[in-house]
Amino acid sequence: MKDVVCSLRDRLVHVGKQLYDQGLVIGTEGNISARIPGTDRILIKPSGVSMGSLRAEDFIVVDLDGNKVEGKLSPSIETPLHTAIYNVRSDVHGVVHTHAPFATAFGIAGIEIIPLQVEMFLYIPNGVPILPFELPGSRALAEAVQKLIRDFNAVILENHGVITVGSTIEEACLLNRMVEECAKVQFVATMLAGKDAVSWETLKGKLLSKIGSANLETLKSKFKVFRI
Ligand SMILES: [Zn+2]
Repeated sequence: MKDVVCSLRDRLVHVGKQLYDQGLVIGTEGNISARIPGTDRILIKPSGVSMGSLRAEDFIVVDLDGNKVEGKLSPSIETPLHTAIYNVRSDVHGVVHTHAPFATAFGIAGIEIIPLQVEMFLYIPNGVPILPFELPGSRALAEAVQKLIRDFNAVILENHGVITVGSTIEEACLLNRMVEECAKVQFVATMLAGKDAVSWETLKGKLLSKIGSANLETLKSKFKVFRI
């Protein structure tokens, strides 16, 4: 088990650096966590440390009630948000919260991000809902996310950021990056063609006319997409 936890810490460091290097967080923004396999505990980023300079030993062990079990630093202020998700999604083993700028801007504008390319359709077939504003770190935010995350793997927090989940921390990270990519593509497509030309139903119609709904599952597995 010790080796498993050590390797999970290393993977979290790697994911944190990726998110930082790709500009999805700046300063000490954002937080990440991973479920320790076979336990009711998670490893979560400490508060006040940049994602770009995390060390393996920095991650805090907390239980699913949010109590600190192990670690020198204070756990992220969004710990209630993370534990709220793990408590209702036994399939989730990684949670990523960033302030990805394009995706966050869509939340501020009140425009839902929709999939406009084939691979994006496979990752976020139902789009990304916008959760009405709640204070960062609040119990109200954790409770509101807990309700929405039962049906979605990605949620935009209005005037705040993006939360994504996955069956591994790497999948949660990839989905966060994909949501940001979707937001960029949607923004540019809308600038080029106008919002009426940017249609979710059009892509769905094209896909189904080519492959048939019966083959959609095959297409999803081909792209190795996790639970969607
Ligand atoms: Zn935040």
